[in-house]
Amino acid sequence: MLRTAYEGQLKCVAEAYPSLRIFPDNDGMWLLAKSSVIPSLQREATFLVALPYRPGIGPRTWGFWADAGSYGWIGPRHTNFQDGSVCAFSPTDRVWFDGDDLRTLLDLYSVWAARHLHLEVFGRWPGKQYGLNDADPRVQAYYRLRECKDHELCGCGSETRRYAECCKPSDQQLDIIVGASLFLRHVPGGFSTRRPPQSVVEFVEGRSEIPRMADVHPTLAHVIF
Ligand SMILES: [Zn+2]
Repeated sequence: MLRTAYEGQLKCVAEAYPSLRIFPDNDGMWLLAKSSVIPSLQREATFLVALPYRPGIGPRTWGFWADAGSYGWIGPRHTNFQDGSVCAFSPTDRVWFDGDDLRTLLDLYSVWAARHLHLEVFGRWPGKQYGLNDADPRVQAYYRLRECKDHELCGCGSETRRYAECCKPSDQQLDIIVGASLFLRHVPGGFSTRRPPQSVVEFVEGRSEIPRMADVHPTLAHVIF
């Protein structure tokens, strides 16, 4: 039972992340936790985690930078899902599964926020990247051309090759108009709609109650992103 697995950990999680707050939901529990990310950093990251009790669905998490009382969504990048949520790892990375240690999960999100900070400061995403790797190859190529920089690891998931030396030369053979239209079919609204749900933003900013998980978790809401 995931419920038992998660509830039994909350004391340990609160020791590791003392700001932890829990909100019940019909479909699971919500966690709200702050992370300093890097010691002495002026801002800190706030993570809102939807943790369903139903197996196989997985958590959905949104990250925000909190700085002097104001909140800024951590994104956009392809390491955000289309609903603006955190893509900190792929199931194939085998670093966290349903029912595992929630401190590890929050630590993975903290590393993800540190990577976003690196991107902001140095203009380069540090680490492995995945770009729509289950889509039509032309959609993948278009996506990498738009999202990956030459000196970053390639969006095909390579752990050693930079984009310019890996998939970019073949991606550039793509008819960009065809790629764009296929991409828009795959991701309705394209990059312009990649942002967190308004109810999530309003909750984090303290302007509304916690959303219903079923309204914002894409699998519970039967919307596949
Ligand atoms: Zn590649």
